[in-house]
Amino acid sequence: MLNIVLFGPPGAGKGTQSEKLMAEYQLDHISTGDLFRKHLSEGTELGQKAQEYMDEGFLVPDEVVIGMVEDKIQSEPNSNGFIFDGFPRTVKQAEALDRLLNANNTPICCMIALEVPFEELKKRLLERGKISGRADDQSEDKINNRIQVYLDETLPVSEFYKTQSKFNGVNGVGTIDTIFEKICAVIESFK
Ligand code: AMP
Repeated sequence: MLNIVLFGPPGAGKGTQSEKLMAEYQLDHISTGDLFRKHLSEGTELGQKAQEYMDEGFLVPDEVVIGMVEDKIQSEPNSNGFIFDGFPRTVKQAEALDRLLNANNTPICCMIALEVPFEELKKRLLERGKISGRADDQSEDKINNRIQVYLDETLPVSEFYKTQSKFNGVNGVGTIDTIFEKICAVIESFK
């Protein structure tokens, strides 16, 4: 099994690169942001719980996210592996993911961190907001808040993977294909 954490701030290109990785390595994609948006659109209880956090760009509580990811992993018993996109976003989530995967003897192979300057991220998110209609992409204040939450709560997750020698920074500025090639080179080096 090939389990990969695709890490990076909002707007770094995780969703775009995940699509390509799924096709290249026949992996299942677990994007917690997409899963929450699906719950929201279906009006589930979980979606209602998540909405107020998402609209303002705050993190949904760990126990809600971890339970949702656990259900998703268990729903794919024949998977070749997972790309985790937008998860883990806190050290607690990273620890929980390790526990879940170690129980199945299928640890994370590597963590790939897409690195993009903050000014470029803001530009990308405002552009995306015009098309996606996502509430959290609509104002500079909300975008700044998400970047601040990333710096305060999510960036420490990279230290967690550094101590396991699984952290790999990749420059997330360039064409989609050149970034993808660099990501694949990292994955190949861990296979
Ligand atoms: P994303 O699509 O990954 O940018 O996620 C959109 C929003 O969903 C985030 O701003 C959070 O409110 C929520 N969210 C997604 N993934 C997580 C996570 N792993 N932990 C907590 N909240 C999350």
